[in-house]
Amino acid sequence: MRKVILATLGALLMSGGSAPAQNYPSHPITLVVPFSAGGPTDAMARIMADGMKTALGQSLLIENVTGAGGSIGVGRVARAAPDGYTVSIGHLGTHVANGAIYKLDYDLVTDFEPVVLLPSNPMIFVSTNAVPAKTLPELLAWMKARPSPPTAGTAGAGSASHVAGLYFESVTGIKLQFVPYRGTAPAMTDLVAGQIEVIVDQTSNSINQVRAGTIRAYAVTAEKRVETAPDIPTTDEAGLPEFHMSLWSGLWVPKGTPKDIVAKLNAAAVDAMNDPVVRKKFENLGLQMPPKDQLAPEALGALQKSEITKWWPMLKAANVKME
Ligand code: ASP
Repeated sequence: MRKVILATLGALLMSGGSAPAQNYPSHPITLVVPFSAGGPTDAMARIMADGMKTALGQSLLIENVTGAGGSIGVGRVARAAPDGYTVSIGHLGTHVANGAIYKLDYDLVTDFEPVVLLPSNPMIFVSTNAVPAKTLPELLAWMKARPSPPTAGTAGAGSASHVAGLYFESVTGIKLQFVPYRGTAPAMTDLVAGQIEVIVDQTSNSINQVRAGTIRAYAVTAEKRVETAPDIPTTDEAGLPEFHMSLWSGLWVPKGTPKDIVAKLNAAAVDAMNDPVVRKKFENLGLQMPPKDQLAPEALGALQKSEITKWWPMLKAANVKME
């Protein structure tokens, strides 16, 4: 009897959940993308998953768990076993803003272990081609002259496009009519079709449409122009110098995940981001690689906390109504 119990225990230990960290990973890892497939977070997740596979010797399978500004997908990871097999990808919206906007049943800081900071995305002002403005000052004048607020697609309350839209409202005093989607991929489809008028989008999501001429870009919210889209001015150049925003992203695992598993995931992600093929893919999308001295898990934890201090007052003051 004792032998049977020991054998069963041994089998359980080998089977994954509580497998020793040295054997990690012994089966595929789930990477939970909290927004629609084809959007900017999904694109980043797929590039990282491809790159990390080499170092980990296992696949990272993407699961899109969408809705409520990404808070549903992040909650799925908060409740997962802390064994390194369920990883959360998110950004300033999901891992900072959502805590000020939703009554979450998890804590964004104490229920997760930060893993690594990922590339960041300048935001970009884009409109459907039917909007008559050609420059950012013309866009602002057009918005002000309208009888009703322009419709602005977002990936839901608390998403990056929504936070950037609220920031835009607070800087310009211009109101937007937010239209929530489960990600900016479906919002982009509607922008191209003229169903909505603008998005304060992540550059990586808009850049190919801008290149194809199916939507119009007015400015990127970065200090320098995006190298792979040099025609688009910065907000400084286009006349809105108060508006700077770079959307960082990161990876997290549930609280209690063993330190050496976090370290393995971190090392695999850093390896991937050093790979020239991966870097090229990110650069083509207008993304900026994270600074080399910010790649330790603690750096992401510190950034997340300082961003909570920076953004929560504005978000709480905006008194966002859930759509
Ligand atoms: N990251 C979201 C997406 O992938 C967009 C957003 O947060 O605005 O769709």
